Amino acid sequence: KEQKVDFSEKPHELSRIKKVIGIVSGKGGVGKSLVTSMLAVATRKRGYHTAILDADVTGPSIPKAFGLNEKAEVTDLGIYPARSQTGIDIMSINLLLENDTDPVVWRGPLIAGTVKQFWTDVIWSDVDFMFIDMPPGTGDVPLTVFQSIAVDGIVIVTSPQELVSMIVSKAVNMAKKMNIPIIGLVENMGYFKCPDCDKEYKIFGESHIEQIAQKYNVDVLAKLPIDPKLAVACDRGMIEFYEGDWFDNMVKILEEDVEK
Ligand code: ADP
Repeated sequence: KEQKVDFSEKPHELSRIKKVIGIVSGKGGVGKSLVTSMLAVATRKRGYHTAILDADVTGPSIPKAFGLNEKAEVTDLGIYPARSQTGIDIMSINLLLENDTDPVVWRGPLIAGTVKQFWTDVIWSDVDFMFIDMPPGTGDVPLTVFQSIAVDGIVIVTSPQELVSMIVSKAVNMAKKMNIPIIGLVENMGYFKCPDCDKEYKIFGESHIEQIAQKYNVDVLAKLPIDPKLAVACDRGMIEFYEGDWFDNMVKILEEDVEK
């Protein structure tokens, strides 16, 4: 019988984290960071202490969406994450860089090492839900991250272009190979609802999400429209104050095995 070897690293000795959820996508630009942020906000609204580990080191967009101005606090004991206005703990490379417009041009091993440190050296106090904004794709970097952090499950974000469905399959297969449970799929930017007539337009054509979900026997957790207000909220650092209920059902699923 095949034995599973666990390479995962231990979190900081002062960290207490109940549930870790990785947000992945087959490629960049599908809204992975946005979904990560919105999940943290939705669970926070339900009264949980939530956290975001921004593992998308070369394209960190989480601090901006939350309008974070302070940096992370580096102490002898460990690194303290920054806290958002509604109390979400956040760690990102941009909270360590002097100048957050500096590009991160590191190679894979350094990126993976940094993410590992966000897990081992950051003090994550009493976190009910941690959401990890994973590096995009199914290459070396996300693979190494999955090996070093014990995630309880993953959410796959997709957008409805035909080409992307093949990429989704890759993400599903990666999770299956690594024995990580797939919580489900989130489809982003599937349609646009006209604010004047309420009619829905499928900008990228017909969605294939249901077929993919069926093929791999996973659930579709949410379907998000293209919403210019959402983009503006991200841009202004106001994602916490955006009103939307797309993730209400999904939060119930996540809640099932975490106590308040
Ligand atoms: P990824 O993390 O997959 O690279 P992001 O979450 O950073 O993608 O999203 C890419 C851009 O698209 C961001 O500027 C974001 O604000 C915008 N965006 C994502 N989803 C939506 C949506 N449903 N409606 C409007 N804008 C969106």
